[in-house]
Amino acid sequence: MFNKINIKTFIPDKIICVGMNYKSHVDEQDGRFPNKPVLFSKATSCVIKNGQVILYPKEVKELDYEVELAIIIGEKAKKIAEKEVMDYIFGYTIINDVTARDIQKNESQWYRAKSFDTFAPIGPEIVPKEKIKDPQNLNLRSYVNGEIRQNSNTSDMIFSIKKLISYISSSITLNPGDLIATGTPAGVGVFTNKNNLLKAGDEVICEIESIGKIRNKIEKE
Ligand code: MG
Repeated sequence: MFNKINIKTFIPDKIICVGMNYKSHVDEQDGRFPNKPVLFSKATSCVIKNGQVILYPKEVKELDYEVELAIIIGEKAKKIAEKEVMDYIFGYTIINDVTARDIQKNESQWYRAKSFDTFAPIGPEIVPKEKIKDPQNLNLRSYVNGEIRQNSNTSDMIFSIKKLISYISSSITLNPGDLIATGTPAGVGVFTNKNNLLKAGDEVICEIESIGKIRNKIEKE
């Protein structure tokens, strides 16, 4: 297990994301809850940190934000029971699962829409698990230009952190430094108001109680 992770130099070994994992976010779509976690990935090359710029790619027409609680794995984990999951977690951080919605809709996989360079702001630091009493009860919010867009709590997850990590580890070995993005609540641009999608010049803030906030500006590629 790590003692401490320096966020400035930290790049996860892999990024595994969970889609459709907040009741409110499923309700703002078709209301059909998944019966198993929906997993996808982001390329680790798109990681940026607090204060760095999110680049709006030329080919993208709909750029969106997603505040999410990120779990950082601390021990090699394979076929872990739910009750053992906490032993394998190092800590928590915030990820903005930046997404090219038009590309997500038009292609039959999500990897490219989720993996353009700069599409994974993480930080502002990695908080060791001992410092967070209940990760399943944290307020999380996002703001664009100071206006609140998402406002929820990790208690609204469909599959809990314990269920997610147990499920993922049943087929995929998790290694120290892997990052699990646990899904986003309601309020993303595409499902609220198309005017809420991101534009060059905007500033997005993602905030989670007991972890902090990450702030990133959007610039044209
Ligand atoms: Mg997401």
